[in-house]
Amino acid sequence: MLTVICETPGTLRALERDRPSRGEGEVLVRVKRVGVCGTDLHIFTGNQPFLQYPRVMGHELSGVVEEAVPGGRLAVGDVVYVMPYLSCGQCVACRQGKTNCCVNIQVLGVHRDGAFTEYLSLPEAFVHKAEGVTLDQAAMIEFLAIGAHAVRRGRVQAGQRVLVVGAGPIGMAAMIFARLRGAEVTALDGRQDRLDFCQRELGVARTVALGEGDEAQLAAATQNEFFDLVFDATGNARAIERGFGFVAHGGQYVLISVVRDTISFSDPEFHKRETTLLGSRNATTEDFETVLSAMRAGQVPTAALNTHRMALADVPAAFATLLDPKQGVVKAIVEI
Ligand SMILES: [Zn+2]
Ligand SMILES: [Zn+2]
Repeated sequence: MLTVICETPGTLRALERDRPSRGEGEVLVRVKRVGVCGTDLHIFTGNQPFLQYPRVMGHELSGVVEEAVPGGRLAVGDVVYVMPYLSCGQCVACRQGKTNCCVNIQVLGVHRDGAFTEYLSLPEAFVHKAEGVTLDQAAMIEFLAIGAHAVRRGRVQAGQRVLVVGAGPIGMAAMIFARLRGAEVTALDGRQDRLDFCQRELGVARTVALGEGDEAQLAAATQNEFFDLVFDATGNARAIERGFGFVAHGGQYVLISVVRDTISFSDPEFHKRETTLLGSRNATTEDFETVLSAMRAGQVPTAALNTHRMALADVPAAFATLLDPKQGVVKAIVEI
């Protein structure tokens, strides 16, 4: 079967591997679509310091059941999506149902080989029917679920003023699900093309371009009160630090992105607001289901989000183009 491996940072190679046989309690999935994530771009550029190369990337996937577990939940031919965070089920987090932050988490395409290939054998518990959506949509559930999870963490309510800093795919996902809960969403980002996309396709209330005067615009938009909830989806330590100042008194700050840095903030500023600070990692089954039902209801502009596509065989030659900001990539999908 055709497989694309990332041999070393910057080098992708297509090769033939043996098709896996179905493991005990596992489902053999024929991979059909894989979304390309910021994580994959970081693996490709070598900005994932704890990753072992070579690695098969890809964790945002949909496919069709090729071989099912006898007597199991799934049948041959079912269209499925995969929860790529393989959790242990035993640890302190898993025991509370917080499988998204499992102590022993194994993420497909990061800790173990992922979906840039034709077949994967996966534990049945992580494979779910994608009823009522297309294969393309099913491959987009995962990144959207990360936004839906953050919005659930923040308990966003109708009428709240929400600021999302960082208008990449994850930030966009947070905007979509905050809006679906009736919040008034403002997007802040350095790229005008992305802000235009948020305005046009996601229907945010307003966009603010990063730079001189941005804080004054945020203040003016909220009668100097700032935001009930601020979501960070920047992956940038300085931006995370700055975001503390955009939280209203009594408000919450939800950190979706992760940086390999120590962040610091002014305790008096934090304290006087009685800020609630939340981390938000991955997503759980509940969030995947939230996304799936929103998609079925036509509430997620998946066609607009999927800006690029390529065949698996073309990935070694074409992957680097996805790094070019001029390409205006939101979500690229690899077709297999
Ligand atoms: Zn991803
Ligand atoms: Zn666990």
